[in-house]
Order: sequence, then structure tokens, then C-alpha cells
Amino acid sequence: MKYDYLVVGSGLFGAVFAQQAKERGKSVLVIDKRPNIAGNVYTEKIEGINVHKYGAHIFHTNNKRVWDYVTKFAEFNRFTNSPVANFKGELYSMPFNMYTFNKMWGVVTPDEAKAKIDEQRAEIKGEPKNLEEQAISLVGRDIYEKLIKGYTEKQWGRDCKDLPAFIIKRLPVRLTYDNNYFNALYQGIPMGGYTKMVGNMLDGIEVRLGVDYLENKDEFDKLADKVLYTGAIDAYFGYSLGNLEYRSVRFENEVLDTPNFQGNAAVNYTDRETPWTRIIEHKWFEFGKDEEGNDLEKTVISREYSSEWKPGDEPYYPVNDEKNGALYEQYKKLSENEKNVIFGGRLGEYKYYDMDAVIASALDMCEKELG
Ligand code: UDP
Repeated sequence: MKYDYLVVGSGLFGAVFAQQAKERGKSVLVIDKRPNIAGNVYTEKIEGINVHKYGAHIFHTNNKRVWDYVTKFAEFNRFTNSPVANFKGELYSMPFNMYTFNKMWGVVTPDEAKAKIDEQRAEIKGEPKNLEEQAISLVGRDIYEKLIKGYTEKQWGRDCKDLPAFIIKRLPVRLTYDNNYFNALYQGIPMGGYTKMVGNMLDGIEVRLGVDYLENKDEFDKLADKVLYTGAIDAYFGYSLGNLEYRSVRFENEVLDTPNFQGNAAVNYTDRETPWTRIIEHKWFEFGKDEEGNDLEKTVISREYSSEWKPGDEPYYPVNDEKNGALYEQYKKLSENEKNVIFGGRLGEYKYYDMDAVIASALDMCEKELG
């Protein structure tokens, strides 16, 4: 039979689109080259712990429409992200707030902290031109040197002077004692894991795993009237204009015979020398308990290493600088000629989307496409 839609990729964008299309009575086939659904939000149970196999995903949003949507498919726990930054054994609270300023400078009141930041940000004149200037103008040089520079340069493999300012604007700066990493009205982790949530979204939809669309594109295209493609846009076009740059991430996962390795879900290593950017201890996303509420005896940790993407690696982060932005625009023009193909998601749109933004964008797309 011929489907109305072929959805390439079962990550959040693909799953939302497939779910919405089915709800509107369309026939849908979802394919994914991985052996599992859920793209980079995929979680796998190891020792009773939902391990975030493609990096930590903490759901947070201010968008009620998105929250109402996701909570149809999962119940969320009350996890609040508050990473700890480890700079050569000195520990600082994240994001940048009164606890951080107190530890850094011994200041106690918001006025004292503000005075310190104002004194240090004075070195930046005019509009910040890059991530380094933006960071110093937000929190001053001391914090930039200890908590931002090393981490950012490891994560992006580029000098902070060569990175766009918007990346650091993702982080709140607060003159209150509040370690909540996000300014979000709604936040949490889907109980039972993201894979279960995406499985619920795809309930009743045909899914074929372990199949590579681009390897057999012509055959797959015959299966449906239209295609939603959520893979990398440059890969779709065979890298004909050259490849877009991505950062990739490698995880070293370890099961440890101890109940508590680091006392927090995320510890960022913000010095330049430690080769990993952060260590995730997955059990703390669910308060160290299994589904029955029992304490877990073991723990699973993941050391995260960033690297430049090369063919064969998984692309994770688009490098949204000017050069890549210009190349993306060229690919986007090409994509507009593909009348029966819709491009969407972090890789399809080459955009550093958070999960909630991907869902919002997918829901918008559904309205446009499906009515
Ligand atoms: N960042 C930083 N120090 C930290 C955590 C984050 O400087 O301890 C900056 C850094 O520039 C990074 C950006 O904030 O690229 C976003 O980091 P985050 O870990 O939130 O990104 P994610 O990988 O979760 O998307």
C-alpha cells in the first residue's frame, strides 16, 4: 500500500509529526536507521536505571501548548536541573546565581554581587561581538575564566572568540539563591524514560527500524505521497555543497558498584585539562529510585567527550556560526525544490533546538501541513 507520509527518523520531531498525522486519519510509516526509536532522547534501562544513551535530556518549557502535548504521553517527575561545576576540585553552583557569586568572591548580598560583576564587565565596551565578550559582559572575567572558557572550548572545539554569543545566553544569571538551571515554568523527566514516552506517541503506527533511508531513497520514496525527513540536511543532498559542521559526542558508560558516585545528576568539568566535559550519573534524574520506589544499589555514569563531527559519527550539535549559517541557507534553497519532502528538527533545520522547541516547531509544521 502507499502511505500518505513516510517519516524518516523517530526522534521527537518525527514522532510528533507521525502522531499528529495518524490522529488526523493519515496513514504513516516511520523508519529509522538505528535499532531503536526515540532518536537522541533514547533511554535504555541498565541496572534498573534509565540511562540517557545520547546525552542528558531534561525537559523544560514555558510553552503550555507543548507541556499539554507531552503530558498526554508521559507523566513527568519533579526533577529540576542544577548542575555542579567542578573547576580543579573547586565546586560551584550552576547556573550563575548568588551561590556561585558567594563561592567565587565571598559576596553575600545581591548588591555586593552586582557591584563585583559591574566592575568586571566594564572591560567590554559596546555590544558583545562573540561568546567571550558576551560571557564577560554577563558575569565578569573571573567566572568566565573558571566556569565558562574551558567548558565551552571543550564542548565546541573552538575559541570562545569564534563562537556566537547566543550560546551563552541560554544560561540564566540571577541575583537570587536559586540553582535551577532553567527559567522554565514546567520541568521534569518522563517517568519510565523517554523511550516509553516516544513509544506512546508512536502507538499504533508502523515503525521499521535499522533501515537507512538515504541508502535506498528511491525505493522508500515510492512508498508514500510525501516524506518528512529529520536527518541531516547536508547528508540528504549527498554533501554536494560541502558538509555543514557539527559537534559530535562520545560517551564512556560505566556501571559502578556503589550507590552514589557524585551526588548529583550532572557535574560539569570546567577546566581545560580534564578531557571530558561532564559526568552524568543517571539515577539522580529519578531520585536514585527504581519504578517501585526502592533505592538502587548500583549506579551508571557517563563521561561525555566532545569532538568535531566527521563522516560516520553521529551529529549532535549544529555549529550555528556565520559560515555554517550561510551554507545552510544554500541547502535550504535546494530543499525548497523538493516539493514532496518536508525537512524538520535539529538536523533537518540545522538548529540548536531544545526539546520543547522541536516539539513546538513540529506542532506548527503539522498545522501547516495537515490542517
Ligand atoms: N556553559 C558553560 N559552563 C557550564 C555549562 C554551560 O560555560 O558549566 C555554557 C557553554 O558555553 C555551553 C552552553 O553554556 O556551550 C550551553 O551548555 P549546556 O550544557 O546547557 O548545553 P547542552 O549540551 O545541555 O545543550
